[in-house]
Amino acid sequence: GDVTLERVREYVWEIPREGKMGTPARVLASERLLSQISEDKTLQQLRNATQLPGVTKYAVCMPDGHQGYGFPVGGVAGIDAENGCISPGAVGYDINCGVRMMRTNLTMDDVRGHEEELVDALFDAIPSGLGGGGVVESGIDTVNEVLERGMAWALDEGYATDADLAHCEDEGVREESDPSAVSTKAKNRGKNQLGSLGSGNHFLEVQRVTDVFREEVADAYGLSEGQVVVLIHCGSRGLGHQVCTDYLRKIEKRHSGLLSKLPDRELAAAPAGSRLAEEYYAAMGAAINFAWVNRQLVMHRTREVFEDVFDRPWRTMGMELLYDVAHNIAKKETHVVRVGPEGRPVGDGEAVEREERELFVHRKGATRAFPAGHPEVPGAYLDVGQPVIIPGSMGTGSYVLRGGEASMELGFGSTAHGAGRVMSRTQAKKDYWGGDVREELEREHIYVKAQSGATVAEEAPGVYKDVDEVVRVSDALGIGDTVARTFPVCNIKG
Ligand code: 5GP
Ligand code: MN
Ligand code: MN
Repeated sequence: GDVTLERVREYVWEIPREGKMGTPARVLASERLLSQISEDKTLQQLRNATQLPGVTKYAVCMPDGHQGYGFPVGGVAGIDAENGCISPGAVGYDINCGVRMMRTNLTMDDVRGHEEELVDALFDAIPSGLGGGGVVESGIDTVNEVLERGMAWALDEGYATDADLAHCEDEGVREESDPSAVSTKAKNRGKNQLGSLGSGNHFLEVQRVTDVFREEVADAYGLSEGQVVVLIHCGSRGLGHQVCTDYLRKIEKRHSGLLSKLPDRELAAAPAGSRLAEEYYAAMGAAINFAWVNRQLVMHRTREVFEDVFDRPWRTMGMELLYDVAHNIAKKETHVVRVGPEGRPVGDGEAVEREERELFVHRKGATRAFPAGHPEVPGAYLDVGQPVIIPGSMGTGSYVLRGGEASMELGFGSTAHGAGRVMSRTQAKKDYWGGDVREELEREHIYVKAQSGATVAEEAPGVYKDVDEVVRVSDALGIGDTVARTFPVCNIKG
């Protein structure tokens, strides 16, 4: 049904608590983005999410939000880890889908004239598309090790450096992971996909830095105008998808009582402390590790391709990981929440006392954006804040932000994760033809190679919201501050 929104202040909108809602809900958006967000089921899904037991403060929708499975993409919920629940639909099917940016010390002068050679070489070397094939052929034992150890495995195998681990969220290892909580079916799906992009929305893009907005932060990140960088977007492939499917089915069955009280079956949740909550958390952790290794192997292969194309060792090209950050994840984190007189979570404007709580922070299509000084920001960036990477589209540009001071208060330490879709894949295939899109991009000197023309149509720049606007809102709210803007050079897609 219709959802009423109240304006709290510029770019902050609230769905007031009413009926069965456990808390209010908030949307962080400009009016233009809000009108796009209002076109699908996002607002209903956000309101529904407040009925999950233990939701604190407010369920939040980021400026790039759109509808997803049960819970919006661009949604954040901080759910009490002791008395609340955990919901696989609020993490998403592609567990630890995320992005990493690798720096280089090359400029467009080095790359110009090599764009097509580079895109062909990347496309040949890096498996993509729906099916199998990975950088590493692995058996079940290798998969188990990856699930247990994440990037520590890649380090031992020579696919990663210490610096790579140091520049990854959680240093590329989710300690609370348990491979035995992952089904054999899921592991089999992951076996030959280790080091592969996957389909459609996942990509590897060579970019150049076009603008620097915060010089001091850009310096700390090693970014400057004209520099060539590489952006990698992929997740946990079939393995993570299977983990999500497995646990949704188990949770729906075992916790049908809770399910019957929820407004949407797709929000199925396991109560905190239940066996399935712990098993899902551990299995999700394992899939998180798989995704980190996946992005690492794709980056490793990218270094090799650059070595071939530019005929130099990768270290001399400064190909260091700037940062890797997840955007589909749930994590136990401690946050300040508002708590009412009977321990009931309440929103703004009611009698409250502040209190810290351990939460399952669910970020689905939302990026962790911890500000300067937060203990989980890597040492090199502690004084400036955590890097946040926001892809736009293959035709428009992307951004590097840094976690803003207001992120903790407004979104459990989070900001947006992309431009966010405005058009479904089905509609995109009606509105665009892959060949035309590719030609238009080539006129802008952007070289795209994809598994199919349909992929290019489904991912045409026009299917996404305006990334400049998303980032402008993030910056204005102070949840993620703009550091640099990039523009595509060449791109490979699944
Ligand atoms: P998601 O994780 O929700 O699939 O996508 C993250 C974001 O990536 C999207 O919201 C979109 O803005 C962005 N994106 C999708 N395809 C491309 C691409 O080819 N290049 C760039 N730079 N961004 C893209
Ligand atoms: Mn994904
Ligand atoms: Mn993603």
